[in-house]
Amino acid sequence: MKKDTRIVTAGRRKEWTGPTVSPPVHHASTILFDSVEDLKHATRNRDKGVMFYGRKGTPTQFSLAEAMCELEGAAGCALYPCGEAGVNAALLTFLSSGDHLLMVDTVYGPTRAICDTLLKRMNVSVTYYDPLIGGDIRGLIQDNTKVIFTESPGSVTMEIQDIPAIVEAAHEKDVIVMIDNTWSTPLHFRAHDHGVDVVIQSATKYLCGHSDALMGTVTATEKYWPMLRENSYLMGYYAAPDDVYLVLRGLRTLSVRLKQHEKNAMKVAQWLKERPEVDRVLHPAFEDCPGHDIWKRDFDGACGLFSVVFNKGNDGAVTALFDSLEHFKMGYSWGGFESLIMGFYDFKKERTACAWDATGPLVRLHVGLEDPDDLIEDLSQGLEKFNAVS
Ligand SMILES: *Cc1c(COP(=O)(O)O)cnc(C)c1O
Repeated sequence: MKKDTRIVTAGRRKEWTGPTVSPPVHHASTILFDSVEDLKHATRNRDKGVMFYGRKGTPTQFSLAEAMCELEGAAGCALYPCGEAGVNAALLTFLSSGDHLLMVDTVYGPTRAICDTLLKRMNVSVTYYDPLIGGDIRGLIQDNTKVIFTESPGSVTMEIQDIPAIVEAAHEKDVIVMIDNTWSTPLHFRAHDHGVDVVIQSATKYLCGHSDALMGTVTATEKYWPMLRENSYLMGYYAAPDDVYLVLRGLRTLSVRLKQHEKNAMKVAQWLKERPEVDRVLHPAFEDCPGHDIWKRDFDGACGLFSVVFNKGNDGAVTALFDSLEHFKMGYSWGGFESLIMGFYDFKKERTACAWDATGPLVRLHVGLEDPDDLIEDLSQGLEKFNAVS
């Protein structure tokens, strides 16, 4: 089955949908059983799509979990109230006191913060590594290394990791490889096919796609799924049916939205690259992006998210730019249908294994589904304000 077909059909099993196209929104805590035999049957089959207790899910959740398994190519999928809950569930499921974690230096900020606080308190030691390390990660694996965490492209700075090389080194020592795959979605990087054991999505971003719900998904291979499933259930992770419905709804148009985000973002990025104020455009599809060749080899596309480093300007100039924009709204998150812009200040502190040497302002753009010509015009007038201050 081709990808565009799978995104339409995934998880739409008759048992979940009934006679409707999409599954109904089942609100349930208690599930009632007609007989002791029914109760025993549900208890035995509670991990096989038989309703047991609300926390284990209803056909609404079963449908999304199954869809994600099909799309990611996984043995199982657990749903979480947000992406960061998924990251933490994955880490806490597989790490124990005394273990060592190899964490990519370019990881999403809150994930880094968890390593430096909660994991540290739990006596998990963390080594940050260069995103471009590839197979040389072998040299960093210790006897107690349990997990290698990856995120490709890197958060904000967009370095592409050689995931197959990292997987090869990790699996020689039975080390678990995890990826935060949010930028790619299952459509642009099928991480499990490249050997990754545990794949995390912030479904808040493109899977939902409309900036109105938070959710996380984590998928795992046959080997790691039972432990992830049990721990997530016991820790009480759960995604509410109304939000699951929104993500299921968004998912069906993911493919067409992503194609348009990619196309619009390329146009805006290419325009920015020619601007005199721009030092670098950080976008994996550009040849000067670290890891670009790996991106071409392993990925099936880009999305609407990339960054820009300016060669001049200061906080005041960035403020003048941002405050003048009409279509690029300021706000955290990304992956919705609308364009967003965000500045990253004091960025040097965010990297410890690889230096961040840029001196000019660092700005991240999410290019939405507006006409890119309007977006370019918006940036063009904004850069006049930027220049007036710098
Ligand atoms: C947003 C994001 C998260 C966290 O997702 P939430 O749903 O906001 O908790 C994790 N990783 C990446 C790469 C993200 O962009």
